[in-house]
Amino acid sequence: MPKNAAIEQEDGYGLQISPPNRDRLNSVINPSSPPSGLFIAGEWVETRERIPVLQKYTGETLGTIAAAGPDHLESAVAAARKAFPAFARMPAHQRSAILEKASLLLRAHQEPMAKWIAMETGKALKFARLEAERAADTFHLSSQEACRIHGETLPMDAVRSGEGLLGFWQRKPLGVIAAITPFNFPLNLVSHKVAPALAAGNTVVLKPSEVTPYSAAFLCRILEEAGLPAGCLNLVHGAGSAIGSALVEHRGTDMITFTGSAAVGKAILARAGIKRTTLELGNASPVVIAEDADLRRAAAKCALGANYCSGQVCISTQRIYAEAKIAEAFMELLLEETARLKVGDPLDEVTDVGPMISEREATRVAAWIGEAKMDGARVRHGEERKGAVHYPTVLDRVKPGMKVVDEEVFGPVVSVIPCRDFPEALRQADDSRYALQASVFTRDIERAFRAISDLGFGGIIINDTPHMRPDHIPYGGNRQSGLGREGPRFAIEEMTRIQMIQFRTAYPN
Ligand code: NAD
Repeated sequence: MPKNAAIEQEDGYGLQISPPNRDRLNSVINPSSPPSGLFIAGEWVETRERIPVLQKYTGETLGTIAAAGPDHLESAVAAARKAFPAFARMPAHQRSAILEKASLLLRAHQEPMAKWIAMETGKALKFARLEAERAADTFHLSSQEACRIHGETLPMDAVRSGEGLLGFWQRKPLGVIAAITPFNFPLNLVSHKVAPALAAGNTVVLKPSEVTPYSAAFLCRILEEAGLPAGCLNLVHGAGSAIGSALVEHRGTDMITFTGSAAVGKAILARAGIKRTTLELGNASPVVIAEDADLRRAAAKCALGANYCSGQVCISTQRIYAEAKIAEAFMELLLEETARLKVGDPLDEVTDVGPMISEREATRVAAWIGEAKMDGARVRHGEERKGAVHYPTVLDRVKPGMKVVDEEVFGPVVSVIPCRDFPEALRQADDSRYALQASVFTRDIERAFRAISDLGFGGIIINDTPHMRPDHIPYGGNRQSGLGREGPRFAIEEMTRIQMIQFRTAYPN
């Protein structure tokens, strides 16, 4: 049976996997045993130096992965360079078909992928399932975008110097993309880099977070099975300070696409040299509650928005500015909704909030709460911590200057700040060095448009929390939240260069 024969063309949606063949695919991509090696030039490579990967709730070791040394990085970049010319020339419909097959394989493996995401991140299974589904969407969207990469003709005679010329521009792939990703969405954030890069005809060297490497390893296996040529995607594992840093400084790559903390983003930008660089960094996401808002709905949304993935989301609800008239009523509802959240084992179907990525991170969050309390903040709910599990926590009486207000908490902590009126709430919400996404709850169209005009964030959400990210939107931040935009169509723009062509068709007198 030829490779991929299990994938068949069906109905209007596109390709689907027929049930009898699903078992065969499951046995090709063994969901109970993720690849532990590096993936270089189409080969899985084991190394002596190993990195243990923990189950974040139990603390047990899930396994070890191969750590890459300098020679492995050289081989990975060389493989990507070697594969690039042929892959850049591959017809768009063929690249598109590979990405669509990967999307289908991701859909077929949604459940095992979700379990691995839940185990390696500590994210509740129900949200891990969403991530796995979204990664399949990201590949599907990228597959479609692969066939829409185009330029335009220009009216060259708009100026005298253009007379007698036919002009058009087109987009070309950049070359080798270095992709560095964080722990919190180990499958979908990797997909947001790998899928658009491949859609545009680039090749990739990927360094996922060393604490959540298995999702990326499965993805390489899936792309291998989908027919991606050897060398187009290469995977290296290791610490950010070692292999991540070396990848950033490597002169053999043409672009760095990074998602992670602002501190590492700044360090990368300082060392990248003259190279296309996109940065998706942090946020201290604000929510404004207008006095006319549906408070119950807003409270339910904020309780979840502040705590899903234990608040370890760059667009987690962190600062809530409520008009003074309704601030306490909103607080009561928020406390009620927060108390409903089930904290515990992420593999348990009822769990909403699992552990943080490590006990160290949970301790840091507890310390930030402690500092805020010393400075006058009041805990209205939560505060307990057991190992890596930090319970959802609600604060009030916070003020600028406290880390829980100014910095990205990246934990299950939210503060409610009463404000004199709506314009003042918008002003305080906007007063941040981060500007990724912000949201406003209001039923008043004038307030909504005032918010859209006043808030300088990359994305504004009306009547939901900042964590809304359908995978095709242009997504990215302003100020210290980053450079560039993701979402397949927009990532492809970042990952291509414009080439201008001028044809002399006539010699004007
Ligand atoms: P991190 O910055 O510690 O690490 C991210 C990646 O960078 C990892 O793969 C790490 O190994 C690597 N790295 C670390 N130091 C490096 C260096 N010196 N050179 C090169 N690579 C290096 O982030 P994290 O703790 O994994 O993730 C949390 C952060 O990610 C939060 O700040 C969060 O806001 C941000 N984030 C942003 C988005 C977004 O889309 N804007 C999405 C998710 C997470």
